[in-house]
Amino acid sequence: MFAKVIIDIAHTAVDRAFTYRVKEGLDVRPGHHVLVPFGQGSSVKEGFVLKLTEESGLEDGVIVKDVLSLAEPYTVLLPEQLALAEWMQEAYHCLLVDALRLMIPAQLRGGRIREKRESIVCLADPDAPFSSRSPMQTEVVDLLKRTGQPMSVRDIHAFLPGSSPAVAALVRKGVLSTSSSPVFRRPVYSLKADTVPELTYEQEAALQAVRALAPGQTALLYGVTGSGKTEVYLRCIEDCLKAGKGAIVLVPEIALTPQTVGRFAARFGDRIAVLHSRLSAGERFDEWRRIRLKKAPIVIGARSAVFAPVEDLGLVIMDEEHENSYQSEITPRYHALDIARRRVKTSGAKLLLGSATPSLLSYFRALNGSYELIELKHRVGGRPLPRVSMADMRAEFLNGNNGIFSSLLLSKLGACLKAGHQAMLFLNRRGYSTFVSCRGCGYVLTCDNCDISMTFHKAQNAVRCHYCGAKKPLPSVCPNCGKPFIKYFGIGTEQVEEQIQKWFPGTKTVRMDADTVSHRDAYEQILTSFGRGEAQILIGTQMIAKGHDFPNVTLVGVVAADTTLRFPDYRSGERTFQLLTQVSGRAGRDKDPGEVVMQTYVPDHPVLQFARSQDYPGFYQYEIAQRKKCLYPPFSLFIRLLLSGENEVSLIERGKEYARALEGELRSALGTEGRDDLLLLMAAPAPIARIAGQSRYQVLVKLLRTRRLPEALRAVYAFETAHRTDGFLKIEINPQDML
Ligand code: ADP
Ligand code: ZN
Repeated sequence: MFAKVIIDIAHTAVDRAFTYRVKEGLDVRPGHHVLVPFGQGSSVKEGFVLKLTEESGLEDGVIVKDVLSLAEPYTVLLPEQLALAEWMQEAYHCLLVDALRLMIPAQLRGGRIREKRESIVCLADPDAPFSSRSPMQTEVVDLLKRTGQPMSVRDIHAFLPGSSPAVAALVRKGVLSTSSSPVFRRPVYSLKADTVPELTYEQEAALQAVRALAPGQTALLYGVTGSGKTEVYLRCIEDCLKAGKGAIVLVPEIALTPQTVGRFAARFGDRIAVLHSRLSAGERFDEWRRIRLKKAPIVIGARSAVFAPVEDLGLVIMDEEHENSYQSEITPRYHALDIARRRVKTSGAKLLLGSATPSLLSYFRALNGSYELIELKHRVGGRPLPRVSMADMRAEFLNGNNGIFSSLLLSKLGACLKAGHQAMLFLNRRGYSTFVSCRGCGYVLTCDNCDISMTFHKAQNAVRCHYCGAKKPLPSVCPNCGKPFIKYFGIGTEQVEEQIQKWFPGTKTVRMDADTVSHRDAYEQILTSFGRGEAQILIGTQMIAKGHDFPNVTLVGVVAADTTLRFPDYRSGERTFQLLTQVSGRAGRDKDPGEVVMQTYVPDHPVLQFARSQDYPGFYQYEIAQRKKCLYPPFSLFIRLLLSGENEVSLIERGKEYARALEGELRSALGTEGRDDLLLLMAAPAPIARIAGQSRYQVLVKLLRTRRLPEALRAVYAFETAHRTDGFLKIEINPQDML
């Protein structure tokens, strides 16, 4: 027997299968993690077995080395995952080993973490009579007789403190026999009390619709905020378990709080495993093993959990499917949706995408029939959607109010606080101001390393660059003209907090943004404290928009609804609608009705109007018409080649050269039939022309989405391969932002 092994080294030169002989008696299977001698010196390397063959396939005389040993007794990669990795290698043009590495915990490689074991004891002869002068020994034996099961020494100690010497003595006497068994280090989360509610009529219909899906099919569950999507997920998972299959539940990293996990744990207990970035190395490794060894059929995790080794996959759920965080920004640049679609197709599972504001692409697919559309139109319990009012900041200004709060928001805030309720204020900008400028000469303070204006942070009396983190003290005079007219413009979360104190002295506020959530538990601490009512107002960036349930919140204020709307990106309308709908959904989750005040300078903007009436289908029709008119995605696809380097002149030259060469490749790939598919090919400095001292230049390509697209993508990938050694080149297909 021969094993085709890929070595665990991420390098193009070795990204292929090497052949090893399998010694008699070594039970090697595809997916095994093995140790093999590699290279000239035959140093021991780790690798993964891709397949087994009868013949070596090598020419006579080539020396074939032996597989040394298995790193784990079980296969670490499922056959389905091996196939998935091969598909990814092609689809994302990545190294096979980079794809495989996504499927196993990093701790597994290099043997950095070992399994933890504990000693277990049981009665050597359960029926033998026992008597001893030591009361403790008698108690230990009694306990074991009563439970009638082997127990860990740790558990015996919990029942009988101080029993360890007695246990040891009993082992020496041969009364107890010992063995060891693996223990799994597990993250802890608060269990929420679980009552299984009777499904609403709409939820029941949704569940039936999921049941009716064909294997491999995808459904979009479009349900307004508070419509009870999670309960539908829970029932679908129950179905899946009953059928003896496993499920993967994906949630955005930021929403993966103990609150969310607690809801699943309450229903399914130990049958869930959790994967996210805040686990310790040991927990991550053990949670992964619990999945692989089929102790936990349900996985809840962020983006990368889509690779979890669930053997009999029955269901994949993607909650908040429109979230950007499902797109990986590092190689391989995969999108969790594409991986999930691939997995359900090969395993015959079902895919359920959920959102109150589906991505344009998903709703587009649902309307044209490639997804099944399932709707929850009403909030559970007939709770009304919050009432949304607009505050026209232009009118406020003309009436002499040049503060950051409209009179409407101020009066509603006052009433909310007076009633003992809580409020949330949302602003998508941290810091105190958005930029610092001189009123004398118009000079704008920019970062020395980046082509970006710096933000004033009052608490530190410093200006900071939000791209590279650079920080310097606020100058007292203008560095350009020397006059003392330095002033800050625009507002950030810090300023909102300060203004609240001015208007409502003594009000307790908490702020949540990238500045206050610096360590890994801060996010949860802030939410828990607000949930307990320790603060009356929560002020924050989009971090506060995600699915938290605060029953006492009756007012949501959107301080500047236009911030994301004015962003120079074709998705700004979609993102604004999503954000506004989500923050609005935070109000009135309990019996008290919710209210939302949106402050804006463009109250008539269609996106804001649709957000106000929470009319997603209306928004969709408006937005898709815009996209069609301009041939933006989903009708086209953007590709960006990003170059960066210190020498700006040579970068521009290189960029232009690349643009010409790539255009040639694309034209020949598209052929005469597709000569109009290339909608745009533009070489120019990137919108942010410098970050962290590096100049940036880009070639932007826009391609019509036709059946010729795969051919064009292959040309782009081939181009990337040809220039892979030029380290400053990065290719992004469908970039999440184009800054
Ligand atoms: P969504 O995820 O759609 O925003 P949730 O699943 O969080 O909504 O449900 C909103 C609230 O309604 C939650 O507090 C949930 O416990 C409750 N809920 C869900 N389904 C039911 C039901 N069938 N009966 C009673 N309460 C329900
Ligand atoms: Zn900077």
